[in-house]
Amino acid sequence: MKRLTCVLLALMLLCGCAGQPQKTKYTATFLDVFNTVTSIMGLYENKETFEQDAQAVHDALLQYHRLFDIYEEYPGVVNLKTVNAQAGKAPVQVDRAILELLADCKAFYTATGGRVNVALGSVLQLWHEKRTDGLDDPANAALPQEAALKEAAKHCNLDQVILDMEASTVYFADPALQLDVGAVAKGWAAQRVAEAAPKGLLISVGGNVCATGAKDDQGTPWVVGVQDPNDSQNYLHTLYLSSGSVVTSGDYQRVYFVAGKPYHHIIDPDTLYPSEYWRSVTIVCADSGLADALSTALFLLPQDRGQELLDHFGAEAMWVDREGGIFYSPGFQDMIRT
Ligand code: AMP
Ligand code: MG
Repeated sequence: MKRLTCVLLALMLLCGCAGQPQKTKYTATFLDVFNTVTSIMGLYENKETFEQDAQAVHDALLQYHRLFDIYEEYPGVVNLKTVNAQAGKAPVQVDRAILELLADCKAFYTATGGRVNVALGSVLQLWHEKRTDGLDDPANAALPQEAALKEAAKHCNLDQVILDMEASTVYFADPALQLDVGAVAKGWAAQRVAEAAPKGLLISVGGNVCATGAKDDQGTPWVVGVQDPNDSQNYLHTLYLSSGSVVTSGDYQRVYFVAGKPYHHIIDPDTLYPSEYWRSVTIVCADSGLADALSTALFLLPQDRGQELLDHFGAEAMWVDREGGIFYSPGFQDMIRT
């Protein structure tokens, strides 16, 4: 009897091993959301299931992209371009996601003392136009006119964006105000999508990275690289990530050159020029929306004020300065792999 049990046990173990499903790492890449490269990774037994899950993640991101887009309109979609076009005219009825995003933006504006202000659209548009023209025609690249920047800055008061959560409307009391949610929208959308996605995926929306769980059943973490601001082929560090998010704001992400000097895309609301504190700031925290907002905020603040925000929100950061110096918040180094 004892021998039979042993044989059965051995057989069961054998069957168990032979039946252990083989998982393969799959990656799907999409180019049509948030004007950047989105990649979705997961270990799956079969390709079709992965592709279905990746497609669902993409489709959800695309919906948010269309809602938060300020450059394009889409048939049947009332988005932020529609809202911007109605500035000062009438309240616009919008999707709940727009209201919830904007309510979060207002809270974050207060928390950062106005450093991250999604009502800076009129100023950011001037930079966006000059950057686009300058990239198309580098020989004639130019800065925005000082007077135009100062005039636009008069129309960036977020209090003039009036949300009616009951009627689901947005109204700008200032007709020259424009929204630009580029600092927060990718992370906010990635967070919503990650919460509804299957466990064990790594979702990167233009470097805004979210893990919906460890890579495999053994709890192996994903590994996420933090780019060297001086070399797009090189990582400064690789980090372990099993859940939550890693987001970097960097001066190399959207940049153009005027008379040989680089001008990037994160604008100091006081000077109306690109912020000069850091080359990059990387945030690690549980919520990707918060990580995205914090990465922009810390990019616009000296280290001590950034650390205060990290303490308040329970997040970690790594700062890279203009001399190549690297600074870490107290818990950041625990997540470093290399
Ligand atoms: P991120 O790469 O997440 O730091 O976001 C940068 C984007 O945020 C820019 O491309 C602009 O669209 C927008 N932005 C730039 N400066 C600010 C600012 N001070 N407050 C809010 N949004 C900003
Ligand atoms: Mg950001």
